[in-house]
Parts: sequence; structure tokens; C-alpha cells
Amino acid sequence: MSRVMGSSIARRLVALTTLVLIATIAAPTVASAHSTAANGWYWPTGTSSTGTGGGWLQYRRWNRSTHLAKDIRARVGTPVYALADGYVYAAYKSLSGYRPGGAMIVVYQDAQGRPVKALYGHIRNIKYRRAQRVKAGAVIAYIAPCGGFAHLHFGIHPGLAKPNDPRRNPFMGHSYVRGRTYGWVDPLGFLSTAYPWGSVVPTESAPTLVPTDTAPATMPPGGL
Ligand SMILES: [Zn+2]
Repeated sequence: MSRVMGSSIARRLVALTTLVLIATIAAPTVASAHSTAANGWYWPTGTSSTGTGGGWLQYRRWNRSTHLAKDIRARVGTPVYALADGYVYAAYKSLSGYRPGGAMIVVYQDAQGRPVKALYGHIRNIKYRRAQRVKAGAVIAYIAPCGGFAHLHFGIHPGLAKPNDPRRNPFMGHSYVRGRTYGWVDPLGFLSTAYPWGSVVPTESAPTLVPTDTAPATMPPGGL
């Protein structure tokens, strides 16, 4: 009797062990929140789902401006990630245009070694200060509230020079001169065409985006 029970328990143990083994093998080796974007950059909010709001070059009638970034929709408190290894160029926990949150700029390097600035706006609990190094995929801040539409304002400005608008503000999020982009480029386009430093670049890929001062002649009509 006891031998039968014993073997039953043993069978159950084997079954359980097998289940645990299968679960272990099936588990992803990289946390899903860290899933990398195309070309090896980490997604700024940990996901390829960027939402429909606030697109690159969207025209906003309410303040007659052109959006120079992509607004990535995310819940308040969502972690914000470093795209690659880099260093903090500037960080403010409260900044005009991004309140009640702040903003930071992190400098990364593309595969050719050229610096590129990434602007993260509407964030809070910023974990790094100016000049500090960040590791690829590190949590650098969290999404702050922003009216009824919590999101990350995500901009890309290649090079270390400040935008060549009259204010020379590296945190500028909009252009008030229609057709001028002041060196900002399509951020999602950048992630899918440029490669981070240290990556093996496919030989057939074209050399990354060249920043221009001029937006395409066809601007998105309307907007919010
Ligand atoms: Zn924005």
C-alpha cells in the first residue's frame, strides 16, 4: 500500500519537475519590457507599440506649431529606457513645456560613431544626472502625468550642436516656423534606419538619416 502511494507521489514529482523544466525553457531570456527595437536600439518605453497620437511633423492648429517628435502613448509610471549605452547631456525634473514633469537628453552613438541626442519629455523620477553614463536598456525615468494623455515626447537630434533656432533650446519640441525642423529627424524613422555603436551593420543598408533643416514640402494637414 505504502509502496503504491510512494510511487504515485514520485510520479507526481516527476510530472511537476517536467512542468517546471518546460516553463523554464519556455521563459524568455530577456524581459519583455526590454525588448529591443529594430536594429538593436531599445524601445524608449519598452514596447514597439507607440500609439497614434502626436506624430512626427504633425501640425497643431491650437498653437500653430509643428511637432518635432513622436508622442509615445504610455501609462503614468511606465519605465523609460536608454536606447543604447550613452551619457546624460541634460536633465531637469521640472521643465517648461513638459510640466508637471521634466525632461532629459541622452547622447548615444550611431554605428559610425556619430553622436545623436535623444530627448525624453513628460517624465518624472529621473534616475541620472548630467554627465552620468547610462547602460543600454537601463531604466532612466518614468512617464509623468500630462493632462488626459500620458505619453513620452521622444525626439531625435543628430549631432551635439543645439538646434539652430533663435532660442538654441535643445529641449524644443515644436517648430513655430512652418517647414523648419532645425535639425530634428523622424525619431521612429531613426530607430529603424540607424544602428547603435558596436552593432554589425548590414552592408546593404544605406547610411543613416542626414539631418536637414527643411521639412518635406507636404506637411500633414490638420492635427489635433
Ligand atoms: Zn510631443
